[in-house]
Amino acid sequence: MDFNLSDDIQAIADTVRRYANEKLLPKYQYWDKSGEFPHEMYKEMGQMGFFSSLAGSQYGGSELGALAHGVITYEVARGDFNAAYPVLLCGGLSLLLENLAPDHIKDEWIPQVLAAEKLLGFCLTEPGSGSDAAGLITRAELEGDEWVITGEKASISMVMEADALLVFAKTKQDDGSTGVSLFFVPTDSEGFSRSPYDDMGHKAIRRGSASFQGVRIPKENLLGTQGRGFPEAMKLFDI
Ligand SMILES: Cc1cc2nc3c(=O)[nH]c(=O)nc-3n(C[C@H](O)[C@H](O)[C@H](O)COP(=O)(O)OP(=O)(O)OC[C@H]3O[C@@H](n4cnc5c(N)ncnc54)[C@H](O)[C@@H]3O)c2cc1C
Repeated sequence: MDFNLSDDIQAIADTVRRYANEKLLPKYQYWDKSGEFPHEMYKEMGQMGFFSSLAGSQYGGSELGALAHGVITYEVARGDFNAAYPVLLCGGLSLLLENLAPDHIKDEWIPQVLAAEKLLGFCLTEPGSGSDAAGLITRAELEGDEWVITGEKASISMVMEADALLVFAKTKQDDGSTGVSLFFVPTDSEGFSRSPYDDMGHKAIRRGSASFQGVRIPKENLLGTQGRGFPEAMKLFDI
């Protein structure tokens, strides 16, 4: 069995490695010490297609696939471990949106996420549930045409910079992982607030906690099927 990369993927790896050595590695310590968020650099990476491997071409994706996405993430991380987070999050979560979101969210958000004009975060962990993710207690209740989300999320990468979050919440109480649904929550929603962690070695991922105090989002912001948030989102981890 031949485990070598194809010529195309190797060429991508070489390009990204050169970029990481020239642009990311020299500034890693500065970004980490200052806590400055290098958004302009991420936009440049977005323009170079670093976030686009998984997304469909109708949204500006390259459809190069999971191996290319992994190779790009790996080479970026060689230069700056922190810079691999937006690659993983924006690249991966754009595929979740493509698979699960209604058309108006896909059309508006995916092209901007691939260009790093808009950033996304993934809200699963809570103060009382980490490995035991099914133990989450954030809840979402349908009131008329809106979902109302209440709860706390902990340890969320890029939360301080994210323009929208993919949030897991219970839509059916006491039903383990089968009662969990996934929601698309813009961070300018009323009732949302966030606070940063004083991280060591990876300040630039802008990790922190997120609070949802009766945050109202349109009914259509449910991603995928109600109650199937876990199995549908976990397909991303299987690619
Ligand atoms: C840098 C960083 C970025 C992160 N970004 C995100 C993010 O973007 N979004 C998000 O949702 N979360 C994020 N997380 C949270 C991460 O997913 C959780 O830390 C993880 O799920 C573990 O949860 P915990 O820290 O509460 O540890 P715990 O679940 O409390 O586990 C602590 C230890 O106990 C062990 N353990 C737990 N349960 C058992 C058991 N039943 N039997 C034996 N051993 C057990 C674990 O293996 C671990 O070693 C991030 C974490 C880090 C460190």
